[in-house]
Amino acid sequence: MAARTLRIGLIPGDGIGREVIPAGRRILEALPSSLNLKFSFTDLDAGFETFQKTGNALPEKTVETLKQECDGALFGAVSSPTTKVQGYSSPIVALRKKLDLYANVRPVKSVGNGDKGGKVDLVIVRENTEDLYVKEEKTYDGPNGKIAEAIKRISERASFRIANMAGEIALRRQRVRKTGAESIHQKPLVTVTHKSNVLSQTDGLFRETARNALAQSQYNSIGVEEQIVDSMVYNLFRQPSAYDVIVAPNLYGDILSDGAAALVGSLGLVPSANVGDGFAIGEPCHGSAPDIQGQGIANPIATLRSVGLMLEFLAEEKAAAMIYKAVDGNLEEGKVLSPDMGGRARTEQVVEDVLKRL
Ligand code: ATP
Ligand code: MG
Repeated sequence: MAARTLRIGLIPGDGIGREVIPAGRRILEALPSSLNLKFSFTDLDAGFETFQKTGNALPEKTVETLKQECDGALFGAVSSPTTKVQGYSSPIVALRKKLDLYANVRPVKSVGNGDKGGKVDLVIVRENTEDLYVKEEKTYDGPNGKIAEAIKRISERASFRIANMAGEIALRRQRVRKTGAESIHQKPLVTVTHKSNVLSQTDGLFRETARNALAQSQYNSIGVEEQIVDSMVYNLFRQPSAYDVIVAPNLYGDILSDGAAALVGSLGLVPSANVGDGFAIGEPCHGSAPDIQGQGIANPIATLRSVGLMLEFLAEEKAAAMIYKAVDGNLEEGKVLSPDMGGRARTEQVVEDVLKRL
């Protein structure tokens, strides 16, 4: 059979993005030939430095190349200046819009016995196009001073497709478990998160639509439950092992994702993917980390896991599983760890150790 070639755009961005994205490329190149997979790479610009050079944080060429010539991409990190810079806005936010990457997917997994609350192996599926993030705000003078308002917009279409995505992810996780991958879960479970007891129309629509989506026959094998977002936070922190896939509207998903990441320690471990229909961008959850930039000590694990995640969405589950296994092996042994994990290894050494385990 002819090898499948995946065309991958590489967008290092700023700061440690430039130190971790090369690690992502290396692990793709190191996958065994038995997978019958080939990769071609295109380096693409975006970020604050690109903005300073060209006046545009997301060059049109980057967007067009991703659209026309890539199957997926890896995105490092971009610096966000602390004071507002005229004309600058986050390129990843713009990319999500331009490529209609409507889901932000963030798996959170502990290694060994986990930290607080035992083992964690869950994934948060966050709607990424609407809710309060439509940014339609206004301020006006009321009888007792200023009043500010924001629109929270929830559509049936966006709620339906994000719930479908959660269903597909739950099925895939179950498939992977059946191949013998170690897991704390026996049965797939999707938890729909909302606040429809207060916001009966907006969150009510999300809830109802998500439940309808997950009631489709292809999801028969999935358990579906729901949680009001405040109790979701409480239960997530008390008993994270109880959750498999959590689906949420944009704002709750944002908060739950960061909270869940705290369950497993360093930011340098947590991957994410921005996913649309037929395209996925893997992106480590951390930022550009200016405090450690240029020292060669950034933890590459979040990026390596993001590579695995991108591959899952490009239907290369086997390759993804190999990467996760190699990463878990490195963490479980705990000998070659970067400084944020309490170790002394440099980025390069962590990458070498993971590659050795592939
Ligand atoms: P940005 O504005 O780009 O988000 P930041 O100052 O918020 O930058 P983050 O990247 O969000 O920095 O990181 C927060 C903290 O976590 C920093 O102290 C950083 O050094 C650390 N950190 C983040 N990612 C990593 C990593 N991959 N390896 C080691 N430490 C990391
Ligand atoms: Mg940050």
